[in-house]
Amino acid sequence: MSADNARSSTDLGVDSTEQSILIGLSKVSLALKSQSWQDAGAHGVSPTQAQILALLQAKGSAGMRLSEVAAGLAVTAATASDAVRVLDLKGLVLKMRSAEDARAISIVLTPQGQKLAQRTSCWSDLLLGAVDELSEPEQTVFLGGLTKMIRKLQESGQIPIAKMCVTCRFFQPNIYPDGDKPHHCDFVNAPFGDRDLRIECPDQIAASTI
Ligand code: SF4
Repeated sequence: MSADNARSSTDLGVDSTEQSILIGLSKVSLALKSQSWQDAGAHGVSPTQAQILALLQAKGSAGMRLSEVAAGLAVTAATASDAVRVLDLKGLVLKMRSAEDARAISIVLTPQGQKLAQRTSCWSDLLLGAVDELSEPEQTVFLGGLTKMIRKLQESGQIPIAKMCVTCRFFQPNIYPDGDKPHHCDFVNAPFGDRDLRIECPDQIAASTI
């Protein structure tokens, strides 16, 4: 390779640490994809259908509208509609009138869907063992970096809106001198630390919506 062609990652504006992080993330992503295909396939649903079951499980009895399901998975309404139709045929979800708005339809899990959602979410055990390898300070730093990355991707519209502390109306960052618990959550009216920053909190209300 000529000297001209032998451009380093630094020439491309990516330093070697950034490059290593990108490679590391792509390897984790591959492992997750592979595991989710295997697990979902073993239970007779596609990965998209398994993700919908997981979303509905997190939402509880309130269920979700089709548009929320599509936004939650960052897929088109047509893709979400197709996956929900198949889940409905399999008896894993039900469509019912929303308790909040009688004109709207909510999608909720059936008892059978609830059971399957629990089983197909076991793939997260794959990562749990790896995260356990990190010390508590390492986990705290990792969570901080992950939160920043998710926020950036969210702001540029590349991933669905995550219900994170850092974008929550109840979040008051760094208001206490206590290094372990400098933040405050108005929802539960309690201080908390970086280790407890949430990335998917059911009580979150986006600060921009007020
Ligand atoms: S309500 Fe949830 S997302 Fe909002 S600050 Fe409290 S813990 Fe964080």
